[in-house]
Amino acid sequence: MTVQTITILGATGSIGLSTLDVLARHPERYRVFALTAHSSVPQLATLCATWRPEVAVVGSAEAAAALSDLLKAARVNTEVTYGEAALCAVASAPGCDMVMAAIVGAAGLAPTLAAARAGKKILLANKEALVMSGKLFIDAVRASGATLLPIDSEHNAIFQCLPHDFDRDRIGKGIARIVLTASGGPFLNRHVATLESVTPDEAVAHPKWVMGRKISVDSATMMNKGLEVIEAHWLFGASAAQIDVVIHPQSVIHSMVSYVDGSVLAQLGNPDMRTPIAHALAYPERIASGVAQLDLTTIGNLAFQRADFARFPCLKLAYDALTEGNSAPALLNAANEVAVEAFLGGRIGFRMIDQLIGRVMDALPTAPVDDIEALLEHDGRARELTRSLIG
Ligand code: NAD
Ligand code: MG
Repeated sequence: MTVQTITILGATGSIGLSTLDVLARHPERYRVFALTAHSSVPQLATLCATWRPEVAVVGSAEAAAALSDLLKAARVNTEVTYGEAALCAVASAPGCDMVMAAIVGAAGLAPTLAAARAGKKILLANKEALVMSGKLFIDAVRASGATLLPIDSEHNAIFQCLPHDFDRDRIGKGIARIVLTASGGPFLNRHVATLESVTPDEAVAHPKWVMGRKISVDSATMMNKGLEVIEAHWLFGASAAQIDVVIHPQSVIHSMVSYVDGSVLAQLGNPDMRTPIAHALAYPERIASGVAQLDLTTIGNLAFQRADFARFPCLKLAYDALTEGNSAPALLNAANEVAVEAFLGGRIGFRMIDQLIGRVMDALPTAPVDDIEALLEHDGRARELTRSLIG
């Protein structure tokens, strides 16, 4: 077996650490080429001491200096670099075979795109990068012959339920619909009128998944599911009308594919991201992930209900953005990132998140995006307007 080398973008995050947990179970198969983090310097130093990557990347010159000192003291000779160009370099380096894209938000776009252009095997967790860049990203993957494997549990489930020879043009021919499941998050049964007063700590307390703070708030608003609808469109070629969202609070069925003959294929498992990570790492083989085998008799019941747009207006905003197309998903994503950050910082209430995004979507015109420069212009305009509305 040839050893595969991997760059982990966002190694200190929830997905990054789950990836390292799976890698540690298979030292004969994988070697770490590079690890990156934004500002968690001591944590990244510890990871470098364990994994001995060739390169470590951080967000600033100060962080790089601090990391270099820690590594020198620990006699770890990992090269330290910083900044976006360095992220792109480790994502596209000849020394790396695969890239785990697990930076949160638009900050992950440039390095993930660099991996796509370099023809890497990309394990995509960073859904915001695909949502904002859409066709530009898919075209880059196609042009270079890169392999794109979804890590988001829903999309990984759909990937597993699709035929092996699937390609994006087959939706509607044999395959009727994509059904995304959603846990409903922490506020599924809370009175809608009380949502304005929920705190960041309440919003990030997800009932089924342990995740980073931004995606946890997205799960509470269900913008996460909205972003996933757009992600499913780009990954699988389904239109907004061919993608359903069903609330399934147990998070055991991770998503489904509905075929024209009435068959529905589902992928099940305990809610633990190490399953999709192990699946994508070894694809098309299967390796152990550390996740316990599913025992349906202890779970007992699987429940389902319709997703309510009045409770979760962000889900509707995302469907509307996908239907509108062009730069609309990029505007939606940018406004959401700014609004969520403001909510986590205590500057706005929970319901302001959907209100701000709605106002930005109404105010800004959309246009086709033919290159990254145009995309970043739309992204920047939406961020600026959201910030000025927050005041
Ligand atoms: P997290 O907040 O736990 O980790 C984020 C990582 O990105 C950290 O390593 C951080 O250092 C790095 N980072 C943050 N800002 C950065 C910047 N400006 N520049 C460079 N690096 C930066 O997030 P997470 O929960 O691991 O999520 C990562 C991505 O995976 C997100 O896009 C999320 O939507 C997606 N995802 C996560 C889960 C999950 O279970 N956590 C599930 C599905 C998809
Ligand atoms: Mg998901």
